[in-house]
Amino acid sequence: MNKLTLDDVDLQGQRVLVRVDFNVPLDKQENGSPTVADDTRIRAALPTIRHILDGGGKAILISHLGRPGGQPNPDLSLACVADHLGTLLKERVRFSSNTVGDTVREVVDGMSEGSVILLENTRFESGEKSNDEAFARSLADLADIYVNDAFGTAHRAHASTAGVAEFVDPAVMGRLLTKEIDILTKVRDEPEHPMVAVLGGAKVSDKIGTVRTLSKVAEKILIGGAMSYTFLQALGHEIGSSRVEEDRMETASSLYEEADGALALPSDHVVAEEIDAGAASTVVEGDIPEAQMGLDIGPATVDTYRSAILEAETVIWNGPMGVFELEPFATGTMSVAEAIADATDAGAYSVVGGGDSVSALARAGVTDRISHVSTGGGAMLTFLEGAPLPGVEALTDAE
Ligand code: ADP
Ligand code: MG
Repeated sequence: MNKLTLDDVDLQGQRVLVRVDFNVPLDKQENGSPTVADDTRIRAALPTIRHILDGGGKAILISHLGRPGGQPNPDLSLACVADHLGTLLKERVRFSSNTVGDTVREVVDGMSEGSVILLENTRFESGEKSNDEAFARSLADLADIYVNDAFGTAHRAHASTAGVAEFVDPAVMGRLLTKEIDILTKVRDEPEHPMVAVLGGAKVSDKIGTVRTLSKVAEKILIGGAMSYTFLQALGHEIGSSRVEEDRMETASSLYEEADGALALPSDHVVAEEIDAGAASTVVEGDIPEAQMGLDIGPATVDTYRSAILEAETVIWNGPMGVFELEPFATGTMSVAEAIADATDAGAYSVVGGGDSVSALARAGVTDRISHVSTGGGAMLTFLEGAPLPGVEALTDAE
């Protein structure tokens, strides 16, 4: 896959439509107005935006935010993100409350070289997620050049990530997308061994393809989080009232078989009767008693996983080991984060992706000790699995 990048295009005087990933967490200020709680994703888009402005282009930014379900929702407006971006760029960033229609067309036509505008949340339009051709065309009408820099949504074929690229020529990769693809291609195609993947989080169903592919290349896959209980139940263990996906039992047992010893499952667990920071928690080995649910990997599992991670030359991590948002169930996740940072200090190459996993890194205070913190969760897994990313496939081929 060889696609055009920002380096291949002349930006002078051009209307450059950039799909960024500004799907950031928001907070409410005291006066009730929303504000950006974590601007990591906004900062990640700055190299592309600055390059366009420096090249004399007009930057028209589009993104989704949250899940408004195809209709306007003032709580999920990108207006406060425009203000925040303006502060970071030290430039005025205009905001358009429309993504389609004559008004936005006129505003864009009136832009001067080196100026920036952010359009409203693309998911306020029902045509975004359905990849509606009319919506994709109306976005395309705003642009001479399309840039995709939203790695985090590149695995989704939506109007602003894939559809629009069919109607703008050239459609190119932004700085962030290029960097993610370059790094992840190396990890996927020529990793140093031993390679250890740590996979946790909420659902097996999100990660089946990844487990299958990685179990063929990685020496070990360490499973944690809620998805371990689906595996454990499939192998005949008692898992109490832990979260399981009944409809994935068969998949889980065949994945385990196929992995031929590469899959490691937790041997002990931190359990409680409910997901509550105040619930009495205990450690159990092996089977989980009725009415108790597994909410974190136990201390013996932490030791085993830590040793495996420290032996690795390549470590990939997605998905927390437990309900790390709550103190009593955070130890497993924090320990894995520290083990990966220690392995990295000792020379391993580490890649971590996923919204919750990345916030766990920050909470453990080890973000700076990870080789590559990806801006994608699902996109990173999809790419590592070897599946195509629609947001990349749709771009213009390099000759
Ligand atoms: P990421 O955002 O890093 O890709 P996921 O979204 O897949 O990770 O999973 C994170 C979620 O999984 C967290 O909200 C966490 O509380 C939840 N989780 C992890 N372990 C358990 C468990 N044992 N039971 C219930 N939920 C869990
Ligand atoms: Mg998540």
